[in-house]
Amino acid sequence: MPRRDPSPRTRRTAPEQPPASAARRQTPVPDPDRVQKIRSLLTQLYPETTTALHYGSPFQLAVATILSAQCTDARVNQVTPTLFARYPDAETMAQAELEEIEHLIHSTGFFRAKAKNIQACARQILEHHAGMLPDTLDALVQLPGIGRKTANVILGDAFGIPGIPVDTHVGRLSRRLALTIHSDPVKVEQDLMRWVPQNEWTTFSHRLIFHGRQVCHARKPRCSACVLEAYCPKVGVTPLPHAVTSVPARAPSPQSSQPVRRAQPRSHPRKSPDA
Ligand code: SF4
Repeated sequence: MPRRDPSPRTRRTAPEQPPASAARRQTPVPDPDRVQKIRSLLTQLYPETTTALHYGSPFQLAVATILSAQCTDARVNQVTPTLFARYPDAETMAQAELEEIEHLIHSTGFFRAKAKNIQACARQILEHHAGMLPDTLDALVQLPGIGRKTANVILGDAFGIPGIPVDTHVGRLSRRLALTIHSDPVKVEQDLMRWVPQNEWTTFSHRLIFHGRQVCHARKPRCSACVLEAYCPKVGVTPLPHAVTSVPARAPSPQSSQPVRRAQPRSHPRKSPDA
């Protein structure tokens, strides 16, 4: 699907680093070379970052993203062909029988809440945006079922407007990698917007999510098998009783110049519609 260029109205910029006197707790500026190495290694490891969800329009991506809460992308892709064949846009979805939507999305779980949000979202798009999904963060987060994380996914994937969706993986990895000291997703987002080039905001976020699912697990991060280990201070990581403590730290080179084995993103249930 062709993407439109961000207009001045929708363009986003990285926030300024607040003056020291203005912020009681702010993230120390990370070494740019270390951040660049992390970006580079993640890009080699996860070259493909497009969403696995199938959609034909920004509205359909919004619906698919709502459905993906606590459900795998593969499952969502099983129900959306029939759903979108019957109700392809906001106008038809707004007029649908709620029970019919519930029936069609039943297998994705939480189908009553999701159906209600999807129809309310469609009606609000019709009423306030002439049937077209808006392309600004402020307008998207006003829609039922769409929070800041989902809005950033839609901006990046459907409109080509860079954004940093912060879910549980992005927050956890950002803290372990000392890219933020914060738990608040908005503050994590703002820190990453400062350290990562704007044209990588969306892809960097996707790559952190892939790495969180596959290597840097919440309870048992696989540090000894992690390509980022030489560049990761592992903030807050408790060493495992075996293995990790006995493995010497990897030197950044020459291993860092070796090709990195590419991993394929897996389809996992998402934790929640919007953390
Ligand atoms: S080294 Fe460990 S803590 Fe750091 S990103 Fe890799 S798995 Fe996570």
